[in-house]
Amino acid sequence: MFDYFGNGLETSKNTLRTFIITLCIFTVLLFLNFYILFRSTKKNIIESGQHAVAEVADEINNFLIKSVDAVKFTAYKTDNMILEGESNEKIQKYFVEQTGVCRIEFDNDSTGVYGVVNGEYLDGDNWVPGADYVPEERQWYIDAAAAKGEIALVSPYLDQQTGNMVMSISRMLNDNKSVVSIDVGLDDLQNLMVEQVENGSGDYALVLDSKGVVVAHSSPSKRGLSYLNDSGTLGNLVAEKVIVSGEKNFEVQYNGMKYVVFASTIGSDWYAVSVLNENALYGPLKIIYFLFFFVLLIFLGIITVFFTKLNRRRDETEHLNIQLKSISGIYKTAHLLDLNIDTFEEIISNEQIRSLLKNGHEHAMDTLKLIMDMRTADLSKRNVAQFLDFSTLDKRLENVKTIAIEFLNVDNQWCRGRFITVDKNDDGTIHRVLWMVEVIDEEKRQRDNLQMLSETDRMTGILNRGGGEAKIREMLDSGRTGMFCLMDADKFKSINDNYGHGVGDKVLIEIANCLKKSFRDNDIVLRLGGDEFAAYAPTVLNETVGQQIIDRFFDNINLIKIPELKDRKICISMGVAFYKPGDDYSFDELYKRADHGTYISKKHEGNYVTFEGTES
Ligand code: GH3
Ligand code: MG
Repeated sequence: MFDYFGNGLETSKNTLRTFIITLCIFTVLLFLNFYILFRSTKKNIIESGQHAVAEVADEINNFLIKSVDAVKFTAYKTDNMILEGESNEKIQKYFVEQTGVCRIEFDNDSTGVYGVVNGEYLDGDNWVPGADYVPEERQWYIDAAAAKGEIALVSPYLDQQTGNMVMSISRMLNDNKSVVSIDVGLDDLQNLMVEQVENGSGDYALVLDSKGVVVAHSSPSKRGLSYLNDSGTLGNLVAEKVIVSGEKNFEVQYNGMKYVVFASTIGSDWYAVSVLNENALYGPLKIIYFLFFFVLLIFLGIITVFFTKLNRRRDETEHLNIQLKSISGIYKTAHLLDLNIDTFEEIISNEQIRSLLKNGHEHAMDTLKLIMDMRTADLSKRNVAQFLDFSTLDKRLENVKTIAIEFLNVDNQWCRGRFITVDKNDDGTIHRVLWMVEVIDEEKRQRDNLQMLSETDRMTGILNRGGGEAKIREMLDSGRTGMFCLMDADKFKSINDNYGHGVGDKVLIEIANCLKKSFRDNDIVLRLGGDEFAAYAPTVLNETVGQQIIDRFFDNINLIKIPELKDRKICISMGVAFYKPGDDYSFDELYKRADHGTYISKKHEGNYVTFEGTES
């Protein structure tokens, strides 16, 4: 039994171990899963970042192509006009027309068409340069000349007057000296950069030209800066990587902050760049995953706590079961009676009782009475019924924790039924009480045996003074009237003296045998001590019947044969008192009355009896 339950505890430990291992594996897998998800989401973010910057690059490219196309067209037209020998005046007129077109095309963000034709500066805006203005020394002319007929994108510059970035797009004409140029304001690009940041596509959005000049920047003050020469700045770090190393996606560390940079080429030598703070980029992602993971961990924690508690409760239950099983080695049945809600709950039971409980576990007292009535032998039924009187239970358990009763059950086994108070209500009445029954057959037998031994006179085998007196007192108390005889051997000392103590003992044994033989089984015969004996014969209430018994006794005394004594006779002096109906005095009084009779008898030779009240 214990092994079984021991194994139960072991199993519970194994289950807990398995649970914890599974939980660890689950957590690791979950962590890996989150890591992979995090990586893949990060990759997606990078891809969408690259995509976004590529789209911006496309948009800028379209913007530039439009400007370049305008220059190409104007150059082609001017080339033709020169070829056709048109005058500078006419060409100037054409420039004015074309400037108007540009204004419409570029939303007034263009200063228009200008250039040098046949050595003369022409301006579509009719701007007349100062005397010191040498067109051939201007960057737009120099770059166009260097481009040798190809389109020259001249480095943008910040127009101090308007505060706008302006760039010139120029081309040298076929005569290799005339140049046509259009100035395009980069406000659209600038707005696009600001929009990018506002849309959350980056912390900074910028466009760099091939020399590292900031063409457009989400922070307008940065425009015109030359990042490649601006060492020690974030811009410089970015420009180095984008322009010099040609990197498209990278991370840079600046001022303790990490930035993620996306870059895309515009045309052949401009770059659209988007710079994002790493925290801002992945922060929400990290927070979401962290929160999710954290919530999941809490959830797992709760499950663990729950499981541990469940396990502990199971352990406790198993411990309790072990304890109950050990108790069930002693108690055959145990039931908990809740007197407040009137229920009868099984703790330890057996099939016989369960079959009696088919109708449920309610009505605690009636159920217990029913069970005990069915399980108690007729002999004990009255006692058990009295013991189960619930109206007096509170009183009986007022100052003690437990009360018990011994009874014989229907299987002829001696049992002990026991009430144990579990708890009480505030008013001191019992709330819950245990009813436990143990089989005490063996114990009772031993106890009875011991009691018998303690009540028996070892030499003669009849009751001793204590045992006999107690039984007579019991009878008197229960009103069982009868005849009490007190006897003393005559001159017993001389038997001892003349024939030895051993012979004296034999005489005492024989006297006891005579008592047993002469009185009825239900009568009480006892040795009071020494050579003094007594007997109580219930229902014998007159001298006539008494005399018959006493005669029988004296006859038997006369028949005693002890070889050592030869012809010596044993004689008994007896005093008799009747305990009659209505008498209400103690055993001591009865003894005194009979003793007086003995005293009288002693005065007579041979066996002699004196009845109370007949003394002479
Ligand atoms: P009486 O006729 O007056 O009764 O005289 P008696 O000699 O019998 O005197 P009494 O009854 O007073 O003495 C009882 C004697 O019994 C005294 C004691 O030595 C003896 N005696 C007591 N117990 C035992 C016993 O267990 N065995 C034996 N052999 N003698 C006992
Ligand atoms: Mg005597």
